[in-house]
Amino acid sequence: MNSPLAEPQHIQNTIRQNVEAIQSRMNEAVERSTVATIPPRLVAVTKYAEPEWIEALLEIGWRDLGESRPQLLQQRAAQYDRWPDLRWHQIGQLQRNKVRPVLEANAIIHSVDRWRLLTRINDISGELGRKTPLLLQVNIAGESQKAGFDPAALLEECERLRAMDACDVLGFMTMAPYTEDESLIRSVFRGLRELRDRIREKLRNDFAFAELSMGMTGDFEIAIEEGTTMVRIGSGLYSGLERRSVEEG
Ligand SMILES: *Cc1c(COP(=O)(O)O)cnc(C)c1O
Repeated sequence: MNSPLAEPQHIQNTIRQNVEAIQSRMNEAVERSTVATIPPRLVAVTKYAEPEWIEALLEIGWRDLGESRPQLLQQRAAQYDRWPDLRWHQIGQLQRNKVRPVLEANAIIHSVDRWRLLTRINDISGELGRKTPLLLQVNIAGESQKAGFDPAALLEECERLRAMDACDVLGFMTMAPYTEDESLIRSVFRGLRELRDRIREKLRNDFAFAELSMGMTGDFEIAIEEGTTMVRIGSGLYSGLERRSVEEG
């Protein structure tokens, strides 16, 4: 093991190397893509990260962090409030009774997966006098265990978005099935982009919904080739590091 003094430097170097490796793979995917022109924003998912790893991410300049549990997001937003330009992203399922703390942390919500939740966010945002940036999560693959709007139903009902005047619907989010089948993964990412284009057409707004949040450690290159603007990457940032809980057995 490293000496206690060397540890923070080791963590920072490891994370910096991982980030750089991912960024160069991102750039190569942009080169291959026929729809992407610039690399997407990299949201560093911290749900498995030790506090020291988060410190390292912040030290090397990372300012977009993602959490899946609202309670942890709220706690960490308070813990790291000395970084004023730090932006939290809520990426995991959100219950209606957890909306307020997530809004108070100024998070971008990627996982708005049903109308009732969207309405609740709109109501509380109105009450707080703000416009909340969010993405609608769509279950493109129609997996029963996954959350998200049904794509056909969302297209059908998209006029309802016009009433959400305390929400800034930036775009859409999806997760690909957990599979080795690249063509299936690609069809899911492409499906989200095409759904976005159809909703744009229907609402007659060519510039709306600019953001697509798709791609994780295992599939971000395919997502970039299909035009994602935000990737949510966790485990790939920390390879070579061991979680304390694991080390301690
Ligand atoms: C955990 C998580 C990620 C990151 O997954 P990795 O495979 O670790 O990159 C991305 N999106 C969501 C919604 C997650 O829950």
